This record gives sequence, structure tokens and C-alpha cells, in this order.
Amino acid sequence: MPAADEGPSGLKYHRGVLKISGEGFADPGQRGISMQAVEHIAEQTRAAAEQGVELAVVIGGGNILRGAQFTSQQSSIHEATAHYMGMLATVMNGLALQDALESQGCQTRLMTAIRMDGVAEPYIRRRARRHLEKGRIIILAAGTGSPFVTTDTAAVLRALELEADVVLKATRVDGVYSDDPEKNPHAVLYSQLTYQQVLQQRLRVMDPTAIAQCMEHDLPIMVFNFHKPGNIVRAVRGERVGTLVHSAAASDAPAQPSAEAKDSEK
Ligand code: UDP
Repeated sequence: MPAADEGPSGLKYHRGVLKISGEGFADPGQRGISMQAVEHIAEQTRAAAEQGVELAVVIGGGNILRGAQFTSQQSSIHEATAHYMGMLATVMNGLALQDALESQGCQTRLMTAIRMDGVAEPYIRRRARRHLEKGRIIILAAGTGSPFVTTDTAAVLRALELEADVVLKATRVDGVYSDDPEKNPHAVLYSQLTYQQVLQQRLRVMDPTAIAQCMEHDLPIMVFNFHKPGNIVRAVRGERVGTLVHSAAASDAPAQPSAEAKDSEK
């Protein structure tokens, strides 16, 4: 799905799915929920919504629990049960984000893929679209509602069914690197990549199922550093703030190191 052309609003993207991993909800190196971290997410999200972009936020749960933690044979918890626990973790993050956004004056709806009457609305595609059209930020929790996948896949599936024109993948580093930049100081930051390059080089962007879905539907992914204030606003305006993953046809040259990375090599 090609990105919409920049219109009078100056926005390149009019409807985006923002994927925030659970780690964004905790203090660095910690687990659980830090309200300071949640308020930071809320501020950045509000700033983007104020630009006029329709935003659906898909929440991870890794700060609390991931199903894969319980996959060992010694565990008495069935793997599927563990994944449901992971999905429930995302709802806790979603509730925290909803209150933080509303305390900043945003209109929101929390929608869950597992029914939780009394806590959140059930996710219904048409209803979700309606909320977006009315300018509400929708927070999508409990992933896809099915075990054995991650919230990366949930973000891409929701982007496709809600006809978003970009997946905004918030990370704590500046984009996609050739290696882990927190361990290898020589890792190169790419300004753009194709889906094939991400899959073939096993680059850490999103899980392979999510990348394959984006490739099939030509849905661009913008990977950017969420901790740098204003980055999400720049991302929705179409400025290059990290790494853009898109189709070969849209890419003028494969695996471009970013200007930032080139400067740091000098
Ligand atoms: N999960 C699942 N189905 C989904 C989405 C998530 O089973 O559709 C489970 C899975 O166990 C996953 C956990 O919920 O590990 C938390 O999500 P994720 O690992 O994607 O969180 P993040 O890494 O983004 O914090």
C-alpha cells in the first residue's frame, strides 16, 4: 500500500499504526510499568495526533511478560496459556497509556482483541475506523487475540485492515542497524531497506511474519527512535528520522547507510 502523497496538511501519512513495545513502558533495564515512561509515550503520541494524523497504537507487553518465557519443557504452564498471559500484559500497558493520554486532553478508546467488558471495548474493525475518523486515538491491546504470534504481527494486521498507510515502529535506537548498536560500536545505521533485505539479513526490525505481511501488501515501516522528542511528528510528516523499510520499487538504492552513520564513521 503506497504512502499517501503529501497534502495541504503537510502530512505524508494520514493514518498510521504506531507500534510501541512493552519495554517503552518501563524505565531502561527495568520491568513493570513506569508512569514517567508512559507519560513520555503519551506526550509523543499526542504531539503526532495534533498534526492531524489518525493514530492507532498497538501495545506490546514484554515489560511484563512474553509467552516465550514459559516454553521450556519444565514449565507446567502450557505455551498457549503463556501467550494469553502475554496478551493480558498488553492490556495493563494499554490502560496506563489511556489514562496518560486522557490526562493530556486526548480523546481515546481502548479496544481489546480479547473481550473484557467493563475494562475496554471489543476490537471491531468498523468501530475502530469510526473512532479514527472522529479524531480519537485508539489503543489496540491483547494483540490479535490468538496465541503464538507477537504484537508486531498484530500491528501489521491492524494496519492492513484499518487501511493505514504506514507502520511506525518505535524503538530506543535510531533505526535499523547492521548489528546491535548497543553491543557493536561499528554497526551501520541504514536510512532505507527493502523487505527482502530485512528478511535475508535477518535484521532486527519486526518479526519475520510481520515483515512478510508488509512485503505482500507493500505497507511501509518507519523504524525510529521514540526517545528523541519530536521524532514521531517528523515521521508522520514524511521526514527521514530513522530507517524506512519499503519495496524494492520504492527504493532508489538498497541498504543505504544513513548520513548520520557516515558522519560517525569519519
Ligand atoms: N501475544 C500473543 N498473540 C498476539 C500478541 C501477543 O500470543 O497476537 C503474546 C506473546 O506471548 C507475546 C506477548 O503477548 O510475547 C507480548 O507481546 P510482545 O512480545 O509482542 O510484546 P513486545 O515485545 O512488543 O513488548
